[in-house]
Amino acid sequence: MAELPFLPSDAENGAAASPTGAGKRSSLTPVAAFACIIAFVGCASLNGPAHPEVSVLVDLTQSIISEGGISLAAAGQAFYANHSDEFDFLIVFTLTDMPAVEIGRSDLADYYTIRNDVRGIGFPPTYDVGRSVGSPAKLQGIVYMGALGRYWDSKTEKLAPEFSYILAHELGHRFGAYVRCDSNGVASKMLLDFGADHWTLAMITGASPLGGHDWRDNGDGTLTSLGRWTGLYSMLDLYLMGLAAPEEVGPIRLLDLNPRPDAVAVGTTIAAGTITKSVYDIVAVEGERQPAFGQAPTSWRAALVLVAPSNGLVDAGVMEGLEAIRSFWPGRFAELTRRRGTMTTGLSP
Ligand SMILES: [Zn+2]
Repeated sequence: MAELPFLPSDAENGAAASPTGAGKRSSLTPVAAFACIIAFVGCASLNGPAHPEVSVLVDLTQSIISEGGISLAAAGQAFYANHSDEFDFLIVFTLTDMPAVEIGRSDLADYYTIRNDVRGIGFPPTYDVGRSVGSPAKLQGIVYMGALGRYWDSKTEKLAPEFSYILAHELGHRFGAYVRCDSNGVASKMLLDFGADHWTLAMITGASPLGGHDWRDNGDGTLTSLGRWTGLYSMLDLYLMGLAAPEEVGPIRLLDLNPRPDAVAVGTTIAAGTITKSVYDIVAVEGERQPAFGQAPTSWRAALVLVAPSNGLVDAGVMEGLEAIRSFWPGRFAELTRRRGTMTTGLSP
């Protein structure tokens, strides 16, 4: 499914993703061996008393990590051998960068759709590959984040600023951005980028985690991009997530660019008119969102999972990073959803 390169603006602008210094913080200093190993078939699960709310899967039999990368399906099978099927998302980290077998990419974060039963979001409503990853009924998707060291600096004990919007982006792919809209009687992908899974760079989204730009109208026939990726979920995003009613979405405005460029850097000023669409143009093609706002879930459960090779070093810094992310994310997710949604990140109910 849709990818998010480490630096989305670069990669989606066609340039090679070039990680910042955060991407080079890959060497983790040995501190202490971690205890409380619960062995089961093929793996060791490390979530002892010190960190009972995150899961570490040590791949003793190399069934999860191979030369081809990490198998998210195998990671899921290993996770569910020791946990019940009660999570909406698995958020998977590794110790070093490697591609995910199911996704076939090596440039980091991505969302792997497991099942969808929501209608009106432009995604098949009967999609379900849950059993292949060990989840018979509940899991909606797996977020693959790549190496934890890209996001967590164990020396400074700080999260990289981009962590927040990368995870917001990947989780956002649960619901978007896939919708078409009516354009003079034709089902159009005008709201989407060339991959048809993010908002077009021409859309005024307030720098939604799912794309578009925070375009400022200069009032003289030009607009300037103030940002990309780094904002809150837009009202259209929230509608697709089941967190807003259609009448709350308001006008959907796009720059009228022809031909549409495939790259616009933040800070660019463009002379352009605007096109206005509405959520009802989306409903006309995709149908109403079901379940509708008011009936749709507003809370989700995610589990943080670190997959380590048998010779990997899961030290105290790694565990502190996982725990820092676990405790950070619920508050940030609430902010991103404008206090309309919640996400818990613990293993216990
Ligand atoms: Zn994406």
